[in-house]
Amino acid sequence: MAQQKALLQLEGITKVFETEEVETHALSDVHFMVRPGEWVSIVGPSGSGKTTLLALLGLLDTASKGTYLLDGRSVLDLSPAERALVRNQHIGFIFQSFNLIGDLSVYENVELPLTYRGMAADERRQRVERALERVGMGHRARHMPGQLSGGQQQRVAVARAVAGDPLILLADEPTGNLDSKNGEQVMQLLSELHKGGATLIMVTHDPNQARLGTRMVSLFDGRVVQDERLR
Ligand code: ADP
Ligand code: MG
Repeated sequence: MAQQKALLQLEGITKVFETEEVETHALSDVHFMVRPGEWVSIVGPSGSGKTTLLALLGLLDTASKGTYLLDGRSVLDLSPAERALVRNQHIGFIFQSFNLIGDLSVYENVELPLTYRGMAADERRQRVERALERVGMGHRARHMPGQLSGGQQQRVAVARAVAGDPLILLADEPTGNLDSKNGEQVMQLLSELHKGGATLIMVTHDPNQARLGTRMVSLFDGRVVQDERLR
């Protein structure tokens, strides 16, 4: 069988944070490739570069050195506006702290990235409704985030991430702020998305969660020290 081509590919990625006194090498010469349909767990001790890697993959930050191809296209030399467009169209984020907008309803939170994209109202409505149904939150569309439990808020955040059919879903400790029961529900949701064909990159410090992935990449001191296929 022919190998599927890379959905994203990092070559020789280095990220240095410079402050007045110190230089921190958050990532050093990282080579990393993900194929469509993979579920990659990123693990490593605190400070090993996991969040930095996710921010680069999600075009929230730029590398100091190296190349990044997303779906075959070089994305490191884009202007900030072009980067924002690629991010909006192709990347879905799920953060530890949900990051919903407090004075927008559940429905409006999921709709907002689609509005930025210039999508027509009819299509927006279909997509928002479908995404909320998918995460079991259709009955809470008119609620405000503050009226929901943490687990419910994270499910809304998952709906927001998938509503635009992104190429890739990035999750940084998605259950880090949840109790174990709600955490399990969110992991179950991610499993379903993966079974449905989503490509997922997830930072976690929970070994049991990491093993749900198809692959586990370990970082240490900004370097990939292990890259293991799980299934
Ligand atoms: P992890 O998510 O694995 O805990 P991070 O990617 O957040 O690690 O951080 C990697 C390293 O980069 C750490 O040493 C951290 O202190 C440093 N770092 C991260 N972001 C910044 C920043 N904005 N400015 C300076 N140093 C940073
Ligand atoms: Mg982190």
